[in-house]
Order: sequence, then C-alpha cells, then structure tokens
Amino acid sequence: MCGIVGYIGQRQAYDVLIKGLKRLEYRGYDSAGISLGGGNSRIYKCKGKVSDLEDQLAGQDVSGRIGMGHTRWATHGEPTDNNAHPHKSMNGRFVIIHNGIIENYSKLKTGLEAEGYKFESETDTEVLANLIEYVYLKNQNNGDSVSPEDAIRLALNMVEGAYGLVIMCSDIPKTLIAARKGSPLVIGIGSGEYFIASDATPIIEYTNSVIYLNDDDIAIINTDGLNLTNLKNVKQKPNIKKIDLKLDEIEKNGFDHYMLKEIYEQPRAIRDTYRGRLNFESKFLRLGGLHNVFDEIKDAKRIMIIACGTSWHAGLVGEYLFEEFTRIPTEVEYASEFRYRKPVINKGDIVIAISQSGETADTLAAIQLAKKAGAIVLGICNVVGASIPRETVAGVYTHAGPEIGVASTKAFTAQVTVLTMMAMAIGYANKGLSADEFTSLVDELYAIPEKIEKILEKAGCVKEIAGKIKDSSNSLYLGRGYLFPVALEGALKLKEISYIHAEGYPAAEMKHGPIALIDEKMPVIVLATKDHSYDKIVSNIQEVKARKGLIIAIVTEGDTTIKEMADYVIEVPHSDFALAPLLTVVPLQLLSYYIAVMRGCNVDQPRNLAKSVTVE
Ligand code: GLU
Repeated sequence: MCGIVGYIGQRQAYDVLIKGLKRLEYRGYDSAGISLGGGNSRIYKCKGKVSDLEDQLAGQDVSGRIGMGHTRWATHGEPTDNNAHPHKSMNGRFVIIHNGIIENYSKLKTGLEAEGYKFESETDTEVLANLIEYVYLKNQNNGDSVSPEDAIRLALNMVEGAYGLVIMCSDIPKTLIAARKGSPLVIGIGSGEYFIASDATPIIEYTNSVIYLNDDDIAIINTDGLNLTNLKNVKQKPNIKKIDLKLDEIEKNGFDHYMLKEIYEQPRAIRDTYRGRLNFESKFLRLGGLHNVFDEIKDAKRIMIIACGTSWHAGLVGEYLFEEFTRIPTEVEYASEFRYRKPVINKGDIVIAISQSGETADTLAAIQLAKKAGAIVLGICNVVGASIPRETVAGVYTHAGPEIGVASTKAFTAQVTVLTMMAMAIGYANKGLSADEFTSLVDELYAIPEKIEKILEKAGCVKEIAGKIKDSSNSLYLGRGYLFPVALEGALKLKEISYIHAEGYPAAEMKHGPIALIDEKMPVIVLATKDHSYDKIVSNIQEVKARKGLIIAIVTEGDTTIKEMADYVIEVPHSDFALAPLLTVVPLQLLSYYIAVMRGCNVDQPRNLAKSVTVE
C-alpha cells in the first residue's frame, strides 16, 4: 500500500510527481506529500488526496529537477498533516518516503529519544529517518568516514519489517537513494533521467525500460547513472526489462469510474487470458508457464491454494474445479493464517499463490514457508514482473490488464479463468477428465466472454434493482456448490464499496443460523442458475420467502419457476456448472457498483482500503 514516486533529470520534477501520485493513488489516499530540490529540500504535505495537495501548492514555487512524492495508507498514526510523508530527520540531513512497516520502530524510537531525538509525527517512518541520521552523524562525530549511503545501509541492517524507500540527503543534493525489502519499487530509465515508483504506471509515459528492485537492493541514482548494491554493499547487476503497458490501459476511457470500466473489460480480459493458451479449433490447451513442472503437478498428492480477499474467493472456485476435474485433494487457505500456524506441507505438494498485484505481503510470506518445506510453488498474478512471479518456480499470468479500482472485478474472473484452464489441463493429463469432457469444457470456456457481453447489456435492469435495495443496512448472499464462493465475493463487493453489511453463505447453511436475520427488510441475493442442486436452491428460496425476505435471484435465461417466487430476477446465459462463477459474479459486481454510486460512495477509492496490500 501507499504510492511512491521519485524523479531526477531535466524535467520539472513536480509535474512528474503529481501525475505519478495520481496514478498511484489507488494504493493509498489518506494523505499526500512531496519534497522538491535535493539540498535544502522543500517539503509540502497534507491530509487528504493528491488534488488537495495540488490546491495547497497553487501559486507556490514548485520548481526543481529532483524530488519525490508519496500517497499514504496509514499504518502508524492517523491520517494527519504531520503524519503525512515525506518525513525529515530532526537535524534536517535526510528526507524519506516509505511504503511498509518498521516493526521494531518502538524500540528504536525509545533508543533515539534517549539520545535526544524529538519526533513530530507518530509514524514508524520518522523513526527510520532519525535512525539513519543518528547513525550518520554519530559516525562522523567519531571521526569515521561514513557516506550517507553507508549510514542508510547500517541503519537498514538494524530494521525489522518491510520497506520501499526513497531517500534524499542534504549532503548529496543531486542524488536519490532507493531501497527495498518486502515493498515493491521499480526504477524507470530514461535518457539522462530516472524515475522511481511503486509500480510502473507513473513511468510508462516516459520510458519502457525498467529495473524491478529485489529485496535488500539499494540503488544510488544521480543524473550520471545508477549504482546498484545490496545491504551488504555487494554490487548487483541491474536487470533491465522492457515493459509493455499502454497509457490507455490505465485511464478511464470515458467511464465514470475505473471499477465500471473494469467490469466492462471482463470479456476482453478473459479472452486475453486464454488467448495463445486455449485453441478452440484444435481443442488444444497449453499453459507454457507450467511447462517445467507440469509432470510433478499432474502426479501431485495434494494442492494447496493460498490467497487473500477476492483472490481467496477465486481460490475457493479453484478448489471445486481441481477436485472435480483432477481428483487431487485441494485445500484453500488464507495466506495470513497459513503462515502463522504450523501447516503440514509435504515435499512435492503443489502450492498455488494467487494475488492480483503479485505483491501481497501475507501471500509472499506464505510462499517462503511453502518453499522451505519443499513444496512446488506456483503463482497466479496479474502484474508482470511483480514479487510473487519472481519468487515462484512457475505460474500463469492473468492478462486482465492494470486493475485500478480498489474493488477487484476483472482480476477475479481472469484468476478463475486461469484456475479453470489449469484444472482442465491437469485433469486431461491425469485422466480426471475424459476427452469428451475436456472438449466440451474448451467450447464452454471459449463462449464465456460473449455470454458476459450479454449480461452487461442488461446493466440497466441491475441498476433498477440497486435502486430498490440501496437503503438496506444488511443483505445476505446465498449460493451452493460453485456458486457459494460467488456468494462470498458478491457480499465482499457490497461491503467494500457501499459499506452495507453483507454476508455470503452456503444456501443450505442458512437454517443453521442466518435465517434468524431474515425479515421484510432483508434483501437476499440468491445464486440460482440451473445445475444439479437447482431443486434444493428453489427450496431455500421458499424458506426465505416464507419469512418475508426480499428475494433477488440470479437465474438461467428462460427460468420460469424462480421468476414466480422471487421479487426480482437477473438472467444469465446457460453454461456448464463449473463455469457459472464467471457469469454469475458479473451482475453482483454491477449491483454493488450501482448501489455504491447511489449512496454517494467513492467507488474507486473506498474508505479505509487500498489496493495491493503490501503490509501484513
Ligand atoms: N508505515 C508508514 C506510515 O504509517 C507507511 C505506510 C504506507 O505504506 O503508506 O506512515
């Protein structure tokens, strides 16, 4: 979380920084700040959005060819002007911006206070700024020759936790220093200019040559060049990559919100995700990213899926798919739970880590644990070159394109598409699926984008229903089988962006508790497409109706039975049961979107949330 931008070169840094911060604002948006000019750098910062900072700076001198900016998602200390980044060390030598958490900040702070240091903020980041300065000045006072870079290295060796940092020091005014452990940082290389950012979106306008920093890397950058070392001061070879990200992919393109644009992009995202992997004509499926370990995967005794949030819901769909198509026992775990208990991981187990950003801190830590235990760890990520794809032995990228809306939509359906293809490929190879079943699934998956287009044509009907239930304070989402994870995802979408309390439940479990909540004020969204448990879900709808709940049912086109019982129905085209999540989730995304807009919520930047959860 939090967005970092740095610039050094011939341009006015302010323009690059503000534009970059706006692109990164989805990562955190409770306060913003910039620092300009290398030597006696000027700091401007405030609580609120990047646009508030811009307003505050109108008419001021913002010139300078070196600078850095930050948009914050607070972890330590409320969003206030003082807690906003950049933070300056007490004697003014160092200015820093930080993404992450300094876990031992309290102990370090006590030590620094004993040495006379005073603090202006409650952040862990200011502790780090002062620690670096303390190490620097103390060594100088002792007559040791210690450069600012050395002091940073020494201080970072004393730190526990995660950081992506950009640092300026008044003694080397034309230099930016970037350091990374746990939180992502990318350096863009232009001609005689350098850009630093939390992801590539602020950089692509200027250059497509980038270096993704690895953990423990320290980059010292000035207009003459870049010097890459690590925490032990060992020189590192910069690995320059070309990125293929276009500007229009990260802009709204006429939609009111990124979330709506991304919902509408799903047919394209799914097509791009299976393109080149699934051949409809020859009924061929090949996942090149799994090639080197495919034999081990198909013979595996167990699959574990680890993820957080929406990716965890995609993982649950994955569990159903893997067990049905491959007959390999599969479990799904929250990454945060997995890493802090003592999970039984056997050598040769397959662990699949799912994360849109590829930077989720808990998922990354769970990967380390699984790797140590001898598991074969695969990744399903959307951001090319992110940490998880680099940490895993093999994997499959979702080709959803940049997802900017904080509430995940197209990343979910792209993840489910990848999981479906993985389950199909493994199932076909290990005989869990017959040739006919496989062929029919290829056809079904191929047809999904067109079916989603048909659902999107009915957005107006979903909007009408949204208008009817927008003032509810609770709602229940019910589904069975493959549609239970969709019920969870639908409820999460509503919570995230409209702040209405919502619960997802397996429909049959309702009788074991939640049915007590149902009255005429409770909207119950039931996923009731035609599958082998259709009759059962019809009974569940009757149970809700008997208690006067307001029923909104997602049904298969042409269904007349449920139409008679439900207050509202939304039709989706028929599909194989296993692929129904890809269709039924779409009206639920739209429903949450319209409800949130009608309630006046900030859809793309919901309160308290941020995209890319790079802290634990
Ligand atoms: N821990 C720092 C703070 O609370 C940085 C948070 C972030 O990553 O935005 O200010």
